[in-house]
Parts: sequence; C-alpha cells; structure tokens
Amino acid sequence: MNPFRLLLNAFSLFMLFPAMLIGETLVVYSHRHYPSDDLLFARFTEQTGIPVRVVKAGAGELIERLRAEGDNSPADVLITADAGNLAMAKAAGVLRPVESEALVRAIPEAYRDPDHHWFGITLRARVIVYAPERVSSGELSTYEDLADPRWRGRILARSSSHVYNQSLLASLIAANGEDAALAWARAVRRNMARPPQGNDRDQMRAVARGLADIAIVNTYYLGLLHDSPDPRDREVAAVLRVFFPNQDSRGIHMNASGGGVTRASARPELATRFLEFLVSEEAQQSFPLTTSEFPVLSEVPLSDLQRSWGDFIIDPLPIRVLGELNPAAVRLFNRSGWE
Ligand code: FE
Repeated sequence: MNPFRLLLNAFSLFMLFPAMLIGETLVVYSHRHYPSDDLLFARFTEQTGIPVRVVKAGAGELIERLRAEGDNSPADVLITADAGNLAMAKAAGVLRPVESEALVRAIPEAYRDPDHHWFGITLRARVIVYAPERVSSGELSTYEDLADPRWRGRILARSSSHVYNQSLLASLIAANGEDAALAWARAVRRNMARPPQGNDRDQMRAVARGLADIAIVNTYYLGLLHDSPDPRDREVAAVLRVFFPNQDSRGIHMNASGGGVTRASARPELATRFLEFLVSEEAQQSFPLTTSEFPVLSEVPLSDLQRSWGDFIIDPLPIRVLGELNPAAVRLFNRSGWE
C-alpha cells in the first residue's frame, strides 16, 4: 500500500472513530437493491464522517420489522419504492414528521407526504414498451386503449399483486372512476399473451423474443437492461422502444422511490440530513446515470438514454393519492381476474 493511501486510511479511521464511539452510525432499512446506492451512501459517509449501515429486505418485511421493534428499532431511515409502500409505512405509524426546508424546496409537492412522513427521492415512469417491427408508435395512444380488443394476445404485464401495477390502477381510478378501472383491468387481462409471470424485465425479454408485442413496465428497467453485463439483455434493450401514453390528456403515470425518518430514530437530525443528501445535486445527478431513474430535482440533467426516449408530460396527480387508493386498486384487481 502506498504511503499516501495509508495516511488517507489512517485519517479516515481517525475521522470515523469518534462518530462510532458516540454511536452515530446511521441505520438505513432499504427496500432498494442497487449496488449504486451503496456507493452513494459511502459518499455521505465521506462528507459527514457518519458511517451508514444498510439492512436490505422487501418493503412489507421492513415495515413489519419496524412495527415489531417499536421504540427499540435501531433504524433511523426507511427507504422504499412506490407511493403505495410509502403510504403503508405512514399508516403503520413507523415514520415521523420531519421539518426540513431543503427537502421541501427540492421535492415537488406531488412527490412528498403533506405531513412530511415521507419524501420522494427518485421518480419512476410506468409506461408502454413495444417491438417496433410489429407495432408502430401511431397505433399506441393511452393506458385506456390497452383495453381495446385489437390488442388481444399481444400484451404482457407482471402480476397484480405487485404494487407498481396497483399504483397504476390507482391512477386510473383517480382519472376515470372505479367502474372504468375495473373494466380496464378485466380487458387488459383478456388481452394478455400469457398469464402474468416474472418481473418487468421478464416482460421485456418476452416481447423481444416475440411472445407479445407490448409490455407495461417502468422505464428504469429498460435502462438496467441497456446497462446490463449480459449481452442478451443489452440486445433486448436495443430492439424495444418506449412509448409515453396519455400525452394528449393527463400524462404518464409517475411514481417515486422515497424515504422517511423512522419514529424510533434516536438521531432524527442525522436521519434528516441523510435524506437531504439524497436530494442534493450530487446525489440526484447520479440516479439517471446509475439506475436510469428520473431525478426528483428538476434542474438535474437526464442521461443520454433517458433523453433518447423523448419528452413527455406527467399526470399531475399527487402520489399520496396512489397510496390512498391502493386498497381499492387491490380490491378491483381481485375481481378482475388479473392474477
Ligand atoms: Fe423496481
């Protein structure tokens, strides 16, 4: 090891040691599974001297764990994906309100809880991808149009038990009412090329193989395929195109990945500082380039890949409504036959 490295290591140990002595390790329960998050959290540690310990699990599991641990929970921050999960965490009483001008300034109102229990950190668009050799973009228009019988046997989507689809259906309930949303779910299920199975990436792989013509997916999964170490996945990304629906009406369904400070946190100021770091320009600039998510901070540039998808307008519906309508969406899906 070169002497400079050694000095640097000794220095960072010296910096970190007092923080560890007084127990200032920030504990983050995270539902996100990206290696780039770990690099980002390491940047927080570099800047503040505060070590971050991450516990990864599914959203339901983490929320249940926070509830079971109660005031004894070691967690300071909960990070999860989707407004449905964020609303579930708030309803479970495991988060606390946070006063932070920096968070309020950085995050548009539609992407944070009015009571400040949770804050959107990255944005994710649920859209249509299609195989251009079998579908022209002129044939595509709206989410609602996917119910049309001309799509019979041509659509793929994952299970309705997944919160991404529940939030999409919640947005359709908000736009068109429950009856229309139920009819839509039934018709889209009828139009599927196979019963729902696999994740968003699997739907795109199957469309690329010719099993169906279009799929309902989050755009960042196309980015993950595009950046994949597996050449077959990169090929999938290369043959598919993104279509942003509802551009003549309310705009696309946008959701968020976000976080909040836990009710149990013994270090709420530090936890707030961590969330503020995640919406800082530095952190926000990393998301388009690493996970292909959209930044919540509007002035941050998109990646080349994201720009290649073109411009789009977004449904202005505040995402807290997706959480409020989640039980209705689950109920309608159960009646629709969409497994
Ligand atoms: Fe995801």
